[in-house]
Formats: sequence, structure tokens, C-alpha cells
Amino acid sequence: MRDTENPGIPEQDIVSSQEKEQLAKIFSAMEYPVSLILFSDSKVDNVFVQAARMVIREVRNVAPLVSLKEFGLDHELAKKYNVTFAPTLLFGPEEYNIRWLGAPVGEEGRTFVEALLMLGTKKLRLSDPSRKVLDKIDSPRNIKLFVSPTCPYCPQQAVNALMAAAYSPQKISLEIIDIQANMFMAEKYSAHSVPVAFANEKLIARGAQPEELFMASLEKLEEQTFFIPDSDTEEVKADLVIIGGGPAGLTAGIYSSRSGLNTVVIEKGALGGQVATTPMVENYPGLARVPGKTLVDIMVTHALEYVTIFPSEEVMDIQPGKEIVVLTSRRRFKARAVLIATGAKYRRLSVPGEERYGGRGVSYCSTCDGPLFQGKKVLMVGGGNSALTEALHLQNIGVDVTLVHRRDSFRAQENLIQKVNAANIPAIFNTEVVEIRGNGMVEEVEIRNNNTDTVSTISANGVFVAIGYEPTVDIARKIGADITPDGFVWRDERHRTSVRGIYSAGDVEGGYKQIVTAAGQGAEAALSIFEDMVNPYWMKETQGSKK
Ligand code: NAP
Repeated sequence: MRDTENPGIPEQDIVSSQEKEQLAKIFSAMEYPVSLILFSDSKVDNVFVQAARMVIREVRNVAPLVSLKEFGLDHELAKKYNVTFAPTLLFGPEEYNIRWLGAPVGEEGRTFVEALLMLGTKKLRLSDPSRKVLDKIDSPRNIKLFVSPTCPYCPQQAVNALMAAAYSPQKISLEIIDIQANMFMAEKYSAHSVPVAFANEKLIARGAQPEELFMASLEKLEEQTFFIPDSDTEEVKADLVIIGGGPAGLTAGIYSSRSGLNTVVIEKGALGGQVATTPMVENYPGLARVPGKTLVDIMVTHALEYVTIFPSEEVMDIQPGKEIVVLTSRRRFKARAVLIATGAKYRRLSVPGEERYGGRGVSYCSTCDGPLFQGKKVLMVGGGNSALTEALHLQNIGVDVTLVHRRDSFRAQENLIQKVNAANIPAIFNTEVVEIRGNGMVEEVEIRNNNTDTVSTISANGVFVAIGYEPTVDIARKIGADITPDGFVWRDERHRTSVRGIYSAGDVEGGYKQIVTAAGQGAEAALSIFEDMVNPYWMKETQGSKK
């Protein structure tokens, strides 16, 4: 049993001296002590316990108000706090009911820092609409949020849950559960796609939600998809509002701001869009090989030098006009121009079983959910760059992956095809998925050979789908912007849509769908918007747009 304030923590550093300096600056905002209690298992000293110790040691080195005590699961405090799993980390247990089952590593490191700051400053960045929803909750809520260290969407949802638990500690308790450390709980709750949130044992959300939607889901105990704030909501004025924080939106932000336009970026999900979940990017000029999430972090850091980013906010409506109003789940923006850079969403297979087993073996994000399938057999459906990149990633982390493609050859870059062949990843060609079946979890997949029209069944624990993307045109459609026959936002050569003052950039308007082309489209659109503001096209006789 360990019962000490100075547990035996390995001495190697896991953060650079530059990162330490940054963290020290961040933690200097703390005003109140935060006590952590780590429960470990005296019998099994697993890697997650060690990782938790290491992270906490690094944090304590730069955050003097954070204290740690460690006890074994057989200690009386384990009984007092009803702790049965190691590692379990309790945050300020005398005041809050927040616990972490696992180690706050990888993407979850950010969440851990946010949690300490919330409790150590007692300042919550909760919006007024969220506070109003939380005030309505009059009975206890126990949140179970499943996350993984490789999931870029998870910190957003974890921060939502932390804010709820820190705001109403008497009513709301929170367990953040790392699915890699606690496979048993993940299996018990069929949490095979993260983040996924339960409250009072009811599923309330799959994926990351804007803050207000999470609070509303928590209040109603079922997933909410729409949230309209009160009319007395805050108002933000800007020259340009960019909707979407992917490569196109972020690049447009940098260019427009450098042109002198007061610019804001609104992002409802993960900054970086699809890039955030791309395991490895190999063709972005200047960066020969970079994990997608790292590239996103570089882009976001750069963009933040110029623009204000409003994360976790969903645009609900746009009212075009001389002054354009953009209404989000939290506030109202007034702008002279709006850039739609909403990117694209995963294309679905649209076969029986796909929806039913979503999060129960069917996944669209190998970086998020791949670790759950280590040692298991999965199919990766698709024959493009994404399917091959993700199949390589899955094989790398120990998943038994087979590619299934409807044609007789891949349509990916030669370089990737060679890597897949060299890695001996099996591929079934001329084959389509007909149905996904299982019993609570995916167990088998019915496939059809396109040449022979024969149907067969293949056993699999998971189906990863990487068959391209559909442009996210909902908001463009809602305001009456023209859509091309292929489903993209129509725009002229200067990125003007058919609605005056509304522009587009990136995957939502089609093109080659590369990170570098999206960034290029964003730069073009920003320069075009700047020129139109200086010299409005609608004042000229030869108009570029149709409405
Ligand atoms: P993609 O290039 O559009 O390929 C989609 C694949 O899915 C194709 O093989 C397609 O088959 C197949 N497919 C489409 N609908 C299907 C259905 N209903 N059932 C079965 N199969 C279906 O999409 P992506 O691979 O996601 O790539 C998207 C964009 O990102 C591309 O421009 C790509 O170049 C880029 N990207 C680049 C990299 C890189 O450079 N390393 C990595 C990832 C993505 P068919 O061939 O029969 O149409």
C-alpha cells in the first residue's frame, strides 16, 4: 500500500523546458489549492498508474497549488470514496465529485490542465445560456464520459462535463473514463466510439457537442440537437465572420486579419476539421511527415496570432443583409461579410446495420477509436487515400485490418499503395458491404462480390468506414445559396456565393480536397473579401453574383 505525499514517481521528464515555462505561466492564474488523490493498486503497478504519476509530477513542478496524495485500493479512503479501480484520480474530493479513471495523457492532458485551472481559479467559462440550463437541473446527475488519449474531439466534451460538475458540485458528479485504461467499463457501456456520454445510466451524447447542447442533453437526459439562446444574448461585431475552423477557415482568418479586417472564426466541433483525425499527413509542403493533429495545432497557434476563435459554438442561422447577422448557440454576430468554410462530413455506407452499430463497432475515426480494436479483426471500407492511410495506422497500433474496396484496384497515391502492400495488409477487391450484423456489437459483415454477384459473410469485430466526404452545405442551403448539381456550394471565381456578402472556401465548395488546396482556397477567399469591401462588387454594373 502506498500512503505518502511523495509517491515514487519515475524521474524522467515528459515535457520540454519550453512547455514547462508555458504551463507555469498558465498555472500562475490559480488562486486556490487543488488536492488530488490518486488510487493505485498495490498488487499490480500498471502503466496507467505510472503515467498518471508522471503527469501529476510534471504538473506539480509548475503548479505549486496542486497537491497529491496516493493511496492503495485497500486504504479506508478508497472505501470512503467508493473507489475500486486503479488508477482513479479524485479532484478536490471534499468539495467536488469529479474523478478520472485512467491517466490524463495524450489529448486528455489538455483536459487535465483545464480541470485544474477551473478548480484552482474557481472561474468557469460557462456561457449564460448554459448556466440557465444548469440552474434548471433539480435532481442529481451522474455523468460517465468515455474518452481516449488519441481522440481530438474528447477534450471539448470533457471540458463541457467538467464545467457542469464544477458549477453544481452538489448535484452533478462526473467520471471521466479512459477506454484504454478501463476496457471493462468500455465494454459494459458498449463505448466503442469516443467521446460518448451517459448521465444517470442513459446515453445522452455521441461525439463532442457545443457547450449549450451538452448542458441541455444533461438536463433532459437525452441527446439534444438544437439550442436557441435567449434573445438578450451577447452581440459581437466583426468585419468578417468565418464559419469553420479547418485549414480553409484558419488560413482565411490569417489572410483577412493581415489585410486589416476584424475577423472571427466560429467552430462547432474539433478545430482542424478532418485533418485533426488524420493519423499522418505526408504531403503538406514543408512538413514531410506530420500527424494531422500536430499540423492542426501549428495552424491554430498561428491563426490565434490574428483572429479570435469561438470554439464549441454552432451556427444556427444566418440572416443576410447589409449587416449580416450570424446566430450561434451562444451569441449573435454582426458582420459585413461571412465566409462559409464548413468543410465536409464523413460519407456513410448507407447499409443495414451501419446506424444501429454506430459506436458499437462501426467507426469513422481510426485515430479516435482504433485503440479499442487492438488484437481484434476489423474491415476498413474504401479504396482512397483515407482508407489506406487509416488501414496503415490501425495495423501499426496492433489491429488486424483487412481492406474492402468496391473496385479492382485502389485509387490512392502510389506511395500509399506501396506502403500497404509492403505491410501485407490484406485487401478484398470488387467487393461491397451489404449488411453489418451483430449482437449488441458488430460480429459479422455480409459482403457481395461485384463481378460474380456472390454474397458471403465475414466475421469482424469492427467496420471502419473511409469512403470519402459529403460537403456540409446545410447552412448555405438554409440561406438560399445556390448548390451545384454535385452538392457543393456554388461560387464564382472570387469565392462569392449567390448570396451577397456570403463567400465560401475549402471542401464545401469542392475541388481537389487536399489540405493545401483548402488553405489556398481560404487565402483566395479572404483576399477577395478584402477587395470587395474596399471596392464593393455589388456597386458595379457587372455583378459576379446572381442574387
Ligand atoms: P475519396 O478519395 O473520395 O475515396 C473514396 C473511396 O471510397 C473510393 O475508393 C470510393 O470508391 C469509395 N467509396 C465511395 N463511396 C462508396 C460506397 N458507398 N461504398 C463503398 N465504397 C465507396 O475519399 P478519401 O480517401 O476519404 O479522400 C478524400 C480526400 O482527402 C481526397 O481528395 C484525398 O486525396 C484526400 N486525402 C489525402 C491524403 C493524403 O494525401 N495522404 C490522405 C487522406 C485523404 P471508388 O473508387 O469506386 O469511387
